[in-house]
Amino acid sequence: MSKKERAEIIDKLLNTFFPNPPIPLQHTDPYTLLIAVLLSAQCTDVRVNQVTPHLFAKAATPQQMVQLTPLDIEKIIKPCGLGPTKAKAIWNLSKQLIEHHNGHVPDTFEELEALPGVGHKTASVVMSQAFRIPAFPVDTHIHRCAKRWKLSSGKNVVETEKDLKRLFPKEHWNRLHLQIIYFARTYCPARGHKAQDCPICSVLD
Ligand code: SF4
Repeated sequence: MSKKERAEIIDKLLNTFFPNPPIPLQHTDPYTLLIAVLLSAQCTDVRVNQVTPHLFAKAATPQQMVQLTPLDIEKIIKPCGLGPTKAKAIWNLSKQLIEHHNGHVPDTFEELEALPGVGHKTASVVMSQAFRIPAFPVDTHIHRCAKRWKLSSGKNVVETEKDLKRLFPKEHWNRLHLQIIYFARTYCPARGHKAQDCPICSVLD
């Protein structure tokens, strides 16, 4: 079976398991999504969703955020880990949004990735989920599944992203990104996967 054929089967199966995958991070607009994604680095979505209501109650716009100090922000976001770094990034990027983007989150990779604390994966999530522009953010779950499904032998997320973009239709990328994450969390953990209970690999061989 070719990689393309495997990809088509996986695409169909994921659509039946997770037909309408919800966006896991609670947000109300591109800015609150950007902040939530930034907080999710090395933290669970559940934890981020517990913390962001407290943060957004105090500051839900860049203008409100810069009224807080990085230390104020750090105290609220502490449960997400990496508090000092994330707090500084949130404060600095809010200031940059005000100074360079009229207080709005930009909708290009170039501008997003120029913001403090925003890498390619964070930018991809914002492009995909806030602006509905096709992107394929690859995290550790997607990297693992792509390898196990023999869709990519990429040594890192950059190579895996390129392979997946070649294999799946562009209009499916945003949906697939979420579906693969939900699938990985449910069936395909890093350790201790149960092949006999799994609905994917058995039909690929
Ligand atoms: S059998 Fe299922 S759980 Fe195991 S690697 Fe394949 S997809 Fe993942």
